[in-house]
Amino acid sequence: MNRRDFFQTTAAASAFASLAAGGAAPLASGDADWFDRPMRWAQLNLVEDDPAKMDRKYWLEYFKKIHADGACLSAGGVVAFYPTKIKFHHRSKWLAGNETFFEEMLDGCRKQGMVVLARTDPHATYLDVYEAHPDWISVGPDGKRRPHPDYPGMWLACTLGPYNLDFMTDVTQEIVELYNVGGVFSNRWTGNGMCYCEHCRNDFAAAYNEELPRDRDPRNPVYRHYLTWEQNRRFEIWEKWDKVIRKARPEARYIANSGGGATSGLDMKKVGELAPTLFADRQCRDRVMVPWANGKNGKEYRSTLGNKAIGGIFNVGIVSPYRWLNSTKSPAETRIWVQDGIANGLRPWFNMVSGQLRDRRGQKVIEDLYVWHYRNEKYLRNTAPVARVGIVYSQQTAEFYAGAAGLQRLIEYPQLGVYQALIDARIPFEMVHDHNLDPQNLSRFKTLILPNIAALSKAQCQQLREFVKYGGGLVATYETSLCDENGTPQQDFGLVDLFGASYVSHTNPKSNVALQNTYLYPEKSSDLYPVLLRGLEDADSVIGGTWQLTVKTGSGLPKQPLSRIPAVANLPMEKTFWTVDKTDIPEVCMNHVGNGRVVYFPWDIDRVYWEVMAGDHGTILRNAIQWVTNEPSPLRIVGKGMFDATVWQQKDSMTVHLVNLTNPMAMRPQMSELIASPPQDIEVEIPNGKKVSRVHALVKVGAIPHAMSGRTLKFNVPSVLDHEVIAIDFA
Ligand SMILES: [Zn+2]
Repeated sequence: MNRRDFFQTTAAASAFASLAAGGAAPLASGDADWFDRPMRWAQLNLVEDDPAKMDRKYWLEYFKKIHADGACLSAGGVVAFYPTKIKFHHRSKWLAGNETFFEEMLDGCRKQGMVVLARTDPHATYLDVYEAHPDWISVGPDGKRRPHPDYPGMWLACTLGPYNLDFMTDVTQEIVELYNVGGVFSNRWTGNGMCYCEHCRNDFAAAYNEELPRDRDPRNPVYRHYLTWEQNRRFEIWEKWDKVIRKARPEARYIANSGGGATSGLDMKKVGELAPTLFADRQCRDRVMVPWANGKNGKEYRSTLGNKAIGGIFNVGIVSPYRWLNSTKSPAETRIWVQDGIANGLRPWFNMVSGQLRDRRGQKVIEDLYVWHYRNEKYLRNTAPVARVGIVYSQQTAEFYAGAAGLQRLIEYPQLGVYQALIDARIPFEMVHDHNLDPQNLSRFKTLILPNIAALSKAQCQQLREFVKYGGGLVATYETSLCDENGTPQQDFGLVDLFGASYVSHTNPKSNVALQNTYLYPEKSSDLYPVLLRGLEDADSVIGGTWQLTVKTGSGLPKQPLSRIPAVANLPMEKTFWTVDKTDIPEVCMNHVGNGRVVYFPWDIDRVYWEVMAGDHGTILRNAIQWVTNEPSPLRIVGKGMFDATVWQQKDSMTVHLVNLTNPMAMRPQMSELIASPPQDIEVEIPNGKKVSRVHALVKVGAIPHAMSGRTLKFNVPSVLDHEVIAIDFA
């Protein structure tokens, strides 16, 4: 049985075939299955005096001008923007005389064909609630009720108890009964951290007969119980709110502002099943942060939501770290951020805090992006990404193996390192949730990358084994598969047969201290040397890992192209002489298994690449990925610069997105100017049965000269300023 037969017989329908075509349908809000229609979202995160002070007409006209077809308007929770009748639900003090404010905005949006979501926020409440229902308030580990840290006189609500389960359920129900909204979107509904209130203590004790944990150590079974208990409660609240919403308005749904990747607090597999649509909230950025972080969210959400509509929430202001909520950042930064989201399948959603503008500069940036998006909507209604490589991410590895203390070193940095290596190599790729390793989900992929995915069950290892056996490629690093699904260390790798190597020991003398001054010896006598060290032929040595495992290769493995040069002293200088020139300890295991290929690095090549950015490691990672993939990439780009490059299929076309990240600020997101890229020679593989009728650019609008060679389409893009989309129409 070859790989194709295997997938045809095991997968009822391939991921590609099962994806429904998008197609621009006329907009009519308030009907079932509205979720796929809105392409551009507008959110007014209202402040309490907006009902009296904001210019409603301005906003409705602005929504129309920018072709927004979805809106999110604040309705209740902290402040009710409508005449609520629920006790303790505080009406805006500026609602008197403006009682129809929410209704007017809703009607105005709906008349323009927009779907409207009502926003709620349950994280904070008032003194009268504190006095009447002290048990609704969040309690800290010291046993004290927690005042709101930013707003004196208010209190943090317990979001796991009756405040959410009862009070916010009533609020949610009242909103959907009164107003024809597409759903309720709530923010900070999981907020405020671990709570020690009487409900949390009693409910946890009832479930586990234990006291709430005081630490966040993933090796502490009580904390692991807590994680499960908390997650179950969150989903209970989600499903309860969804139920009351659908009872009142069958076409409406609860839309949680939740989700993410490996470090997300909610199981993304279940989120993907529950949510009819979801939005990645990426309004804040850190001081140092990759410019492709928004797009990464798109890949992560898609990994469990499939082809459901996903949006990317952005902000034109500098919201982090000091919360200048009404500010405006450089248009270059906003553009690249949003474009990278679009290139990765996110539908743009701007959030404006307050309807009263304090700086109008952001309005033009949004307008430019949205009007372009509207004009090219046909080419942005993707039916499937074209990518043969997937990066696996694992919430169980983050929660149970790394814990909060290990998140950066063991989870985020390895993942960011391989992500950057793929960006560097311009290889299109997707993210893959580790609970989606079944043949149907994997059928679209040729290669999976496991950046230190330490916690894997026997069943997951078996799925990976099958994937490789039938022709898949695998690249894995460091402690991948060395623990079970609960993060408990095992005697040997779960994937020992794929790696062709057994675990012997951890090399670092102290588990929390990095090795310094280590090297790799390139073994030119290995048949695999020309493959793995392509481009590094002049290297006599390469810098080594900072966390290493010693492994013993099996007899079936050929001679490997990298071996260990053990850590040399690094100070005093006089003592830094090498005592060993090389060893026979392998630092890579390249293996053939069935019809597939595997490269295992028993050290943190991905993490070191992220932290140190030594080009050698990027080159070795690229070579490893290409060797295991063993087929041409569906997209090949030659030219200088850094791009986030993606390829998509639509109903009657394909698109290639190039987001130009070539910028002196590239590895911070705060770009202040856009710099045009040099020319790029591009080759795209055209699917069988498709005939190219036209190739044209959607940003620098115009035809693109091109040539076909077999199934390969070749063309040149002379320059990209920020974003270019090459549309390939099929006859
Ligand atoms: Zn509580």
